Amino acid sequence: EGSSAPRRIRALDPDVVNKIAAGEIIVAPDQALKELIENAVDAGSTALEILVKDGGLKLLQITDNGCGIDKQDLPILCERFTTSKLKKFEDLQSIATYGFRGEALASISHIAHLTVTTKTADSNCAWRAHYDSGRLSPAKPGQAPDPKPVAGRPGTQITVEDLFYNVPTRRRAFRSASDEYNKIIDIVGRYAVHCSSVAFSCKKHGESSTSISIQANSSAVDRIRQICGGGVANELIDFSTSDDRWGFKASGLATNANYSMKKTTILLFINHRCVESTNVRKSIEQTYAPFLPKGGHPFVYLSLEIDPQRVDVNVHPTKREVNFLNEDEIVQAVCEHIRTKLAAVDTSRTFLTQT
Ligand code: ADP
Ligand code: MG
Repeated sequence: EGSSAPRRIRALDPDVVNKIAAGEIIVAPDQALKELIENAVDAGSTALEILVKDGGLKLLQITDNGCGIDKQDLPILCERFTTSKLKKFEDLQSIATYGFRGEALASISHIAHLTVTTKTADSNCAWRAHYDSGRLSPAKPGQAPDPKPVAGRPGTQITVEDLFYNVPTRRRAFRSASDEYNKIIDIVGRYAVHCSSVAFSCKKHGESSTSISIQANSSAVDRIRQICGGGVANELIDFSTSDDRWGFKASGLATNANYSMKKTTILLFINHRCVESTNVRKSIEQTYAPFLPKGGHPFVYLSLEIDPQRVDVNVHPTKREVNFLNEDEIVQAVCEHIRTKLAAVDTSRTFLTQT
């Protein structure tokens, strides 16, 4: 504009800064839920129950049977950068690899109404606390914000209500609750396949039937059968390979050459975090191309464990896309292993049909 006089610089209000940051970290209900599932699994839970209303925008509730949260930690639970998962400052690798940055609950508390009910094994009751903008807040105006004793089972229940209630632009971006619910089912399904020996259930509020229901003792193939259907589950080959040179272990289940679907489906976990990798996707598609009819695509569940020192990015939770050291070598080694497996199945099939 015309004026030559500089405007004075002012600091933004910290609550505004936190709200902006939170809106960037959590852009949709499924992302909030992903963080909550990871927390529940990190807490050693063997059963997770998820309840969803209006695609997670009205209600997102996750109940676990994990270790619970110490009552004394409740006041700082939702402060930014508070975590129980880093033992020392040099533990920065774990931040990079697992995203332990103590930001998920803080973020959610800035853009939703958050209630935590939790009981540790050595507490004789559960404690319930409400949060607003990183701090404990009263259940009703005028009440004290302190945690209240309530009856409850060991574990933690996190209730997220009215997500984005104070971020109208973001809220308006959601067209349909059923699209959001489908994304929620997708992420729950992925973790349900990966987390062996953990039971999962997910349902819409007010409905008696569950969208997902997995028993703790279900095998990986059974989990895929329930999440992705029998067509996929009946045509799986399992694989497992490792290489000390590149410091990785890979295992999983992949469809054989008898099966193909319209779109490639990849369930990729790196160090037990669900991630995306364009590199992995492309290499898997190339690996399958010679085996499948034109237009046919595979299903692959791949769990990669990589020496934490080698995993590069994923520092920011919105970056689902990861990179790691010797990525090309690792992806090639895994795909070569899958290719050998596919070829072996394919040969025996050809052989069988010839004789
Ligand atoms: P981070 O997972 O990076 O530590 P979060 O904001 O996701 O950060 O969680 C903060 C802390 O809250 C965790 O470190 C953990 O101690 C505790 N916590 C969160 N969810 C649970 C849960 N379901 N069970 C037990 N503890 C939990
Ligand atoms: Mg977390």
